[in-house]
Amino acid sequence: MNIRKLTALILTAAVTASLLAGCKKAEETSEATTEPVVTDTTETTETSETTTETSVEITYTADDLRKAGVNELNSVPILMYHRVYNMKNSETKYTGGNVDKDGYNRTSEAFEKDLRSYYEQGYRMMRLDDYVDGKIDVAFGYTPLILTFDDGINDVVLEGWNDDGTPKFEEGCAIAVLEKIKAEFPDYNVTATFFLNCGLFHNKKEDDVKVIKWLVDNGYDIGNHTYDHKTLGQCDAAEIEKQIGSMYKLLDEIIPGRYVNIVALPYGSPETFPADKPQYEKIFAGTYEGFSYTTKSSLLCSWTRCYSPFVRDFDVRRLRRIRGYDNNGKDWDIEMNFKQLNDGRRYISDGNPNTIVFPSSDNSKGDWLKNTFGLQVITYDK
Ligand SMILES: [Zn+2]
Repeated sequence: MNIRKLTALILTAAVTASLLAGCKKAEETSEATTEPVVTDTTETTETSETTTETSVEITYTADDLRKAGVNELNSVPILMYHRVYNMKNSETKYTGGNVDKDGYNRTSEAFEKDLRSYYEQGYRMMRLDDYVDGKIDVAFGYTPLILTFDDGINDVVLEGWNDDGTPKFEEGCAIAVLEKIKAEFPDYNVTATFFLNCGLFHNKKEDDVKVIKWLVDNGYDIGNHTYDHKTLGQCDAAEIEKQIGSMYKLLDEIIPGRYVNIVALPYGSPETFPADKPQYEKIFAGTYEGFSYTTKSSLLCSWTRCYSPFVRDFDVRRLRRIRGYDNNGKDWDIEMNFKQLNDGRRYISDGNPNTIVFPSSDNSKGDWLKNTFGLQVITYDK
């Protein structure tokens, strides 16, 4: 992939409108043109000629798109981590940076190395909550990366409080490593979503309340991992409503309206939501002790990359995640997943959150692009 800086070519909204009108011509002469090719497949293009205020400023040429391999229908890694321990890899008896047999928990050495590696490979972080809403604001030529942490344990280990009221973290816990990387790479846009149970981060309750407020004030998100870490696939409707509703209620007491309405399903259960299991709908809407909630997305404990939110197979109720672990490049570990992503399967951004850009051949049957979120669609010939 050739990552380039934005070209100096800035087309105004008015010029974009004229491009929309002349898109057929541009497609026919795409090899020679320096202008972006714009499809006429969406509702918005029909009206853009007269409503220039809905047009989007285009800052690249079709040649730039080809060289960078821009493709916003390709896939995105959502990493699933659990505990991060202040340890060297040499201090564990398991493969690579795994702290347990199955690799759910990671050493701080390995976690920091993961973050540096993703950065060097051209990945940049974004919020999960924005991803499910189709709001992808990642620089031109880069790929979105989403981090999630389940269970809260060892993610934020508190040593105390600084004089200015900021938290003092134990070295090597997840947030300490994230903050270190954030300071070193401002353009990485470091962020993560922490999915909690009733034990929150397992510090003292009053400390966790303050920590959670600090996290949302500092670019991190808090989500729902059920109150008691229950296997929801085995629960009846009342129990699911209690598990989901009471956790949202607890978060709403701490950070009213500032948590994300997303559930990481404990043990990835249930994996599907069939019509003959209506109790599972309580994951997505319900009322517990007078507190009403809705959930817009849920996450599996899956093995591989997630679909772009713009494509047909994206299922907002079944987001797939990559387990952050080592297994010598086998069994869907980090190395195997990123090898596949980097082999032509990764989402590469055009740098503009208001457009969906991809090679026309990727939607040749017309049924792969599905959810446009009202954004402008732009295609180019590979
Ligand atoms: Zn869990």
